[in-house]
Amino acid sequence: MSASAAGVVSRTNGKSRIDSGYRMSVSEPLTDGHGRRIEDLRVSVTDRCNFRCQYCMPAEGLPWLERAEILSFDEIERLVALFARMGVHAVRLTGGEPLVRRDFPRLLRMLAAIEELQDLAITTNGFRLERDAAALVAAAGSSQRPGGGVRFNVSVDSLQRDRFYALTRRDALDQVMRGLACLAQYPQAHPIKVNAVALRGFTEDEVPAFVELARHSAYEVRFIEFMPLDADRAWTSDQVLTGAELHAMVDALHPLEPLEREPSATARVYRFSDGRGRIGFISSVSEPFCADCNRIRLTADGRLRTCLFSLNETDLRGPLREGADDHELERLVRDAVWRKELKHQIGEPGFIQPARTMSAIGG
Ligand code: SAM
Ligand code: SF4
Repeated sequence: MSASAAGVVSRTNGKSRIDSGYRMSVSEPLTDGHGRRIEDLRVSVTDRCNFRCQYCMPAEGLPWLERAEILSFDEIERLVALFARMGVHAVRLTGGEPLVRRDFPRLLRMLAAIEELQDLAITTNGFRLERDAAALVAAAGSSQRPGGGVRFNVSVDSLQRDRFYALTRRDALDQVMRGLACLAQYPQAHPIKVNAVALRGFTEDEVPAFVELARHSAYEVRFIEFMPLDADRAWTSDQVLTGAELHAMVDALHPLEPLEREPSATARVYRFSDGRGRIGFISSVSEPFCADCNRIRLTADGRLRTCLFSLNETDLRGPLREGADDHELERLVRDAVWRKELKHQIGEPGFIQPARTMSAIGG
């Protein structure tokens, strides 16, 4: 396909290319200006949430998007299909809390039918899993995709009821653990990951219980470093309990052995030396993995973000609703992706926290 949009066309290695940076062939991989191939899309399906985790949302919630501002299922499907044709083969649905979006399993069914997608996943706080696990697994399995499964990351920051309540501002640990148990009944949903945000002064006391969970359940536990994306803007670097510190604490309880890191994986995963269970560390702040980042994000209101910490975003909803064809949308996407940030600048002078918080971006 030749480039038809305005722009100066030059030749690079015999291929057509537009000097503003994008390439116009559906068969060409989606690549950024630093040579990274983009293959993973996080889609936020709502900015709303039924929890109020302290590191994410204020107690009173946030001003929610109007319904008309949120991408419809048809719009999400169209964009995901477009990304898939550009080589995005992994899609994670997130939020806000994705399971509070009405009729969410129907969206999963629609996306599961996109042939190019190899990996479909959901990040959830688990509160509605007891109700929805069966419907979600069935929706993902309705397609001809190889495997036909859906993977889940379930966020659980404490395994003690009162501390879970203190952190999420919801007395919901039992409900979440029941949801996890429901999900665990489905082999197609495995491996199931349990993610805990690690906060200094809080998570240290949780380590033994999470180690036991990792060793005596089917769940892979992963600790995520606290990032400056909280709505209260209370993040400070000294609150980050690092992956290295957590690794030392876990290793002292039960020795760990590293597993090979998968390309572009966010977590460093270890197995316990005695062969019982796995545990991972997502050290986004202390050991950034930007160099091989293959991820981009679509917000619930249809903005493309090329980094969690982007200060600019690209509106896809406007052009979509004004009748842009796939060719025009593809041009917008390639152009934005070309300008993907080299790395985040947490801890560097001049770092600016983006206006959007984690719940409005889609973590
Ligand atoms: N509501 C769902 C959930 O909590 O799993 C999905 C959305 S939530 C924004 C996605 C992930 O981001 C969760 O694992 C959550 O713990 C994590 N998260 C939220 N705020 C964070 C922060 N400031 N730093 C690190 N991780 C954060
Ligand atoms: Fe909601 Fe997830 Fe943010 Fe907690 S981390 S407030 S569950 S969006």
